[in-house]
Amino acid sequence: MKTIGIIGGMSWESSTEYYQILNRHAKARLGGHHNASSLLLTVDFATVEAHQRAGDWDALGTLMAGAARQLERGGADLVILATNTMHRVCESIEQAIAIPFLHIADPTGHALRAAGIERVGLLGTRYTMEQTFYTGRLRERYALDTLVANESDRADVHRIIYDELCHGAIRDDSRRVYQRVISDLAARGAQAVILGCTEITLLIKPEHAALPVFDTTALHAQAAVDWAIEADQQGAAAG
Ligand code: GLU
Repeated sequence: MKTIGIIGGMSWESSTEYYQILNRHAKARLGGHHNASSLLLTVDFATVEAHQRAGDWDALGTLMAGAARQLERGGADLVILATNTMHRVCESIEQAIAIPFLHIADPTGHALRAAGIERVGLLGTRYTMEQTFYTGRLRERYALDTLVANESDRADVHRIIYDELCHGAIRDDSRRVYQRVISDLAARGAQAVILGCTEITLLIKPEHAALPVFDTTALHAQAAVDWAIEADQQGAAAG
């Protein structure tokens, strides 16, 4: 199979999820002792988080572009960015490399449309919920209408991501906050909820939510493996 390059470390708690899902999905598809061929580049989240807080997206674009180039030089055939938030600077990555980049919103958008969903709740960092880089793509490419929580709930969702989940702290009281927010989104007409931050899967499993859950971590990692297997088969058939 082709080699998947992962820009990880944002946070490493979710990168470990990616690593497991990539390998489990490769094994599920190919059987036996098959793994996913992958390269994981872990960036320093302290630097990333500080630039996010300062609103310095240009510096983050430069950082992510450099990481993508490093993966390409290392032999990756595809690059994925293992965080929703940092897709704010995905154009910098796409311009920096000649190999494909698989955007995290795309497998999620496809899965939602395939399930017949038109109106969907979105949980994520403030950047993902409040800026247009993510909801805009879902609207333009998948005709999805996105709902987010109110201001104070968004602040709680964001705080729990950075202060707890990115440190590996999984707390029942925080799960209850997310459950209430999801129920409120359902009451406002959401037909499903996007776990639009790659750590939320550590806290919220499908059985915890009042709505069908679309987990960006799993959908993204599985789509990368599907691409890596199919691109390899196509290459073999053509050659
Ligand atoms: N992993 C998170 C996300 O998917 C947040 C951490 C980050 O800022 O990259 O958005």
